[in-house]
Amino acid sequence: MKFSILTLFPDMFTGVFQQSILKQAQEKGIVEYNVINFRDYTKDKHNRVDDYPYGGGGGMVLTPQPLFDAVESAKRGEEGSTPRVILLCPQGERYSQRKAEELSKEEHIVLLCGHYEGYDERIREHLVTDEISIGDYVLTGGEIGAMVIADSVTRLLPGVLGNETSAITDSHSTGLLEYPHYTRPASYLGHDVPEVLLSGHHEKIARWRREQSLKRTYERRPELLEEIELSKEDRQFLQKLKESHDKEL
Ligand code: SAM
Repeated sequence: MKFSILTLFPDMFTGVFQQSILKQAQEKGIVEYNVINFRDYTKDKHNRVDDYPYGGGGGMVLTPQPLFDAVESAKRGEEGSTPRVILLCPQGERYSQRKAEELSKEEHIVLLCGHYEGYDERIREHLVTDEISIGDYVLTGGEIGAMVIADSVTRLLPGVLGNETSAITDSHSTGLLEYPHYTRPASYLGHDVPEVLLSGHHEKIARWRREQSLKRTYERRPELLEEIELSKEDRQFLQKLKESHDKEL
């Protein structure tokens, strides 16, 4: 899979892509990150990529030409296929694990990182396939959002994580929040690891984990339970949980 990341601040990506799992994924040849400074594509004689907004008002607006040309160049040699061209912006679809899973099926993703007040609207209308927001707050630029997407998609690619199952049980992958983890020692400062985890009984451990996931999701993010399919056992467990919570109130 290839990411082409169009930014005015390519150095911001050096640390993130040169460490840990993302670095190893590149070394294994699973993913390629092309960080491109779209200022290199401007035809403006002063090297500018932004201009004042028509109609007045504060802030600068990114002009269409450098981004259209940089995207064209990133797509070169791929005639016939259509890469996803994603605009990072606070007005976009809110990013989620579902979206990361959808994007992990693509061969080439182009990420456009904005800066300043905004983009010329023709970039939105005629260049991009998706607009993504990483949350309901405003950042100074799209770079951190691009890192979020590149990281969350990369870890889903086959061969990237040592233990393939760890991405499957992650919070949000199953639609539930993940169950609690424990490691050695079995007792620490008088706090013990739940007995069942030491039992070696795989079926009981799996049930305990499922119930802990349901409990955690019910307590922290109950709205997620509306969106997933629950077994009869799951529903019975949640009913009991609800009754004991109601009693406490
Ligand atoms: N004036 C714009 C608005 O109100 O929608 C915000 C511009 S913001 C200061 C500059 C850039 O940061 C945006 O073009 C976008 O690339 C990026 N950005 C800011 N918040 C973001 C978010 N929540 N998700 C993704 N990108 C964001």
